[in-house]
Amino acid sequence: MRHVDEYRDARAIEVVRARVEARLSRNRTLMEVCGGQTHSILKFGLDQLFPERLQLVHGPGCPVCVTPLEEIDRALAIAETEGTIFCSFGDMLRVPGSTHDLLIAKARGADVRIVYSPVDAVAIAREEPDREVVFFAVGFETTAPANAMAIRTAAREGLDNFSMLVAHVLVPPALEALLGDDDCRIEGLLAPGHVCVVTGMHDYHSVARRHSIPIVVTGFEPLDLMLGIDRCVEMIESGEVGVVNAYERAARADGNPAARELLADVFSVCDRKWRGIGEIPASGYEIAPAFRRFDARTRFAVSCIEAQEPAECMAGLVLQGRLKPTECPQFGRRCTPQNPMGATMVSSEGACAAYFQYGRPADVGASA
Ligand code: SF4
Repeated sequence: MRHVDEYRDARAIEVVRARVEARLSRNRTLMEVCGGQTHSILKFGLDQLFPERLQLVHGPGCPVCVTPLEEIDRALAIAETEGTIFCSFGDMLRVPGSTHDLLIAKARGADVRIVYSPVDAVAIAREEPDREVVFFAVGFETTAPANAMAIRTAAREGLDNFSMLVAHVLVPPALEALLGDDDCRIEGLLAPGHVCVVTGMHDYHSVARRHSIPIVVTGFEPLDLMLGIDRCVEMIESGEVGVVNAYERAARADGNPAARELLADVFSVCDRKWRGIGEIPASGYEIAPAFRRFDARTRFAVSCIEAQEPAECMAGLVLQGRLKPTECPQFGRRCTPQNPMGATMVSSEGACAAYFQYGRPADVGASA
C-alpha cells in the first residue's frame, strides 16, 4: 500500500537499527510519549530489536487512560440523569468508574450512544430538541479542534440542548511534570507527531531547553519510530539539546494555524488532574467563557464528586514510565482486557492493553 509499505520496509528498518546500535555508548532511556506509538512499537516488535542498553519507556499519551476517575463518575451521573442522551467514543464506555462503567449504565437503561465524531452528537441534538444531548470530549490537542468546531456549530444554530463534558489534556505540561521529577531517568523524548500537526512545536522547545534534553517529533509507522529513535540517540550521544522534526511529511513547526485559532477561541487553558499522576498546572482545556453555556459541568449539578483509585492498580506508575505493565502483579491475572482493573488495560492506546495484546505468552503474569 502506497505511503504505508515504505514505512514498514524490513530492510530499511534493519539499516536504522544497526545505526542506532552502533551509536550507543552506554545504557540509554528514551520515552515515547504517545500510546499510539507504544502500540506500534509492541505490534511490530521494535522493542525487541535493540540491545538491553536501550530502554524504551512508555509515556502518559493515552487520553482515555489519564481521564480521572472523578470525570468517569461525573459522566456516569450525567448519563444517568433522566432525559439525557450521553454521546461518547466507544473506548470510554468500558473505562471503570468508582462503581461501574458507561456500558453498564447503558445496560441499566441510560441512553448512552457511541458516536464517531462530535458532529454526530450535534446532529442528535438537532433531531431531539426536547432532550439534553451531551458529548464526552476526551483527548489531547489532536481531537480538540473537532470538538471546538462542534461547539461553534451548536452556537451558530442556537442548539441550547447540546453541551459538552470536556476532559481535554495537553501534552507539554505533562512532559514538564514528568521531567521535573527528581527520580526521572528519561534522557530523550519521542514527541507525538499527530499532536504537533495541530499545535506545532513551539512549546516543546521550552521543555527541551528547561530540561536539557533532545525531543524528536516522531510518527507512528515502524520506520517513523526507528528514525525518531535514531535521531534521539544521536542527539543524546552528542549532547545536543533541542527539538527536531522527524515527521516532516505531516508536522510543521507552526502546526495548523487555523486549528490553533479555533482552539484559542472556544477553549481556555486550565489546571487538570491526570489519572495516576495528579493535578498538573495548565494541562487541560475548559470551555471558554463566551461558550460556557455549552459546558455540561455547569448545566448538570453533579460537581461534588470524590473518587478513590483501586489500590491494586499501578497504572499511575505505568503512565509515568516507571513500571512496565508486565511488572504489575495483576497483569494477565486479575486484570485483562476482558476484565480490566485500570484504564491502561481498557484503552486501545493503553500500555497494559498493548503488552497484553502483543506480548509473548511468557510475559503474562510473569512478575506475579
Ligand atoms: S495491568 Fe491492570 S491493574 Fe496492573 S497497572 Fe495495568 S491496568 Fe492497572
